[in-house]
Amino acid sequence: MSVEERIKRAEELYRKYGHVLLQDDEIRDLLGKLNFAIERTWDYMRKIGVTDVCRQCALETGSCCKRWVEDEHDEYILLINLLLGVKLPKKRYKEDGCFFVGENGCRIKAREVICVTFLCDRVVKKIGEKEKELQRIAGEELEIGFVLQEKIKKKIAELGSSDNKPELSCRVF
Ligand code: SF4
Ligand code: SF4
Repeated sequence: MSVEERIKRAEELYRKYGHVLLQDDEIRDLLGKLNFAIERTWDYMRKIGVTDVCRQCALETGSCCKRWVEDEHDEYILLINLLLGVKLPKKRYKEDGCFFVGENGCRIKAREVICVTFLCDRVVKKIGEKEKELQRIAGEELEIGFVLQEKIKKKIAELGSSDNKPELSCRVF
């Protein structure tokens, strides 16, 4: 499935199940926790200077957000972004870049492991010992995201199977 198709699929899932998913206490709670965890990762990256290094790198080399990374993101992680209030992009910004990269960096909030944990040599050199703490914080974000994805998949499977149940016909024996 192309990235455009996966975005379309995520939007269909959102239209069909978004309302019910957002009414589920556990899912709502996990969405709140994920939102918080994502912000915490970004805050720490800003604090230790990762974002500055990456901004400079993006100007010099175009960053490491390569086209293939978009395929790491399936319709469920994209659905989570919709549930977090993110508007998914409709157009590619950079021909040789990931579909989700835009003028000011990444245009989605919930991202897959490769995006959350990848640190190039330049960043590793800059942050030194702080790498451990960053990976710990990023790990918490990923763990919450993983549990949330599983809950959402399960819920959609349940809702889908009740959608497909044959209607009971009224028969007189
Ligand atoms: S992680 Fe490294 S390669 Fe990627 S944008 Fe940042 S500095 Fe550049
Ligand atoms: S950080 Fe965002 S733009 Fe960069 S590769 Fe990951 S999803 Fe794509």
